[in-house]
Amino acid sequence: MYVVGLTGGIGSGKTAASDYLHSLGIDVVDADVVARDVVAIGQPALAQIAQHFGTAILLADGSLDRSALRTIVFNNADERKVLETITHPAIRQEILQQLTASVSPYTLLVSPLLFESGQYQFAHRNLVIDASEDLQRQRAAMRDGVSSEQINNIMAAQLTRTERNRRADDIVINHGDLADLYQQLHIVHQQYLQLSQAG
Ligand code: ATP
Repeated sequence: MYVVGLTGGIGSGKTAASDYLHSLGIDVVDADVVARDVVAIGQPALAQIAQHFGTAILLADGSLDRSALRTIVFNNADERKVLETITHPAIRQEILQQLTASVSPYTLLVSPLLFESGQYQFAHRNLVIDASEDLQRQRAAMRDGVSSEQINNIMAAQLTRTERNRRADDIVINHGDLADLYQQLHIVHQQYLQLSQAG
């Protein structure tokens, strides 16, 4: 199992990059999807969350009321810690399970917080999709109309561009068009195929 971690700031082009590599036959594990799945109805982590935070963080259908939970943990580091103690092991276990089930030559682990969350430890190599802050803002706003305040909050929770790039093994600069992005990805893809065979 050879794992390539893929990360980048908001709107940097992580999804565009992972969709392209997926189209080349590479299995993708998405840490955001896993983080949602482990707190779905019927999952043990959701029951633990409800036990600690009370049923006020559940919606009428029994699913997690994310915004209620966010309000509780946003300004309370202790409660945030409790939440992470419940969710992080479940997320790690599910990521590992999906990585193990992958059958492609290497597997992408896509995570906006790859370095911040410690998930880079699953990866043999880390690829950063890099873009200037201006482009990140433009693309994120264009895609789903998030406000600049929301973008600021998300950026504040992520590593700085300099620090993220410092921790990368490979950097693809997404300043051109999609064809340019794909061309650069094709080169690192060949490299990962070779590295995964050598390992
Ligand atoms: P987030 O962290 O917010 O999920 P992301 O890093 O996954 O963002 P994408 O969703 O891949 O970013 O890209 C943001 C938007 O910019 C999308 O609409 C995408 O199609 C577009 N985009 C990405 N790269 C390029 C490019 N090189 N040229 C044109 N559009 C691009």
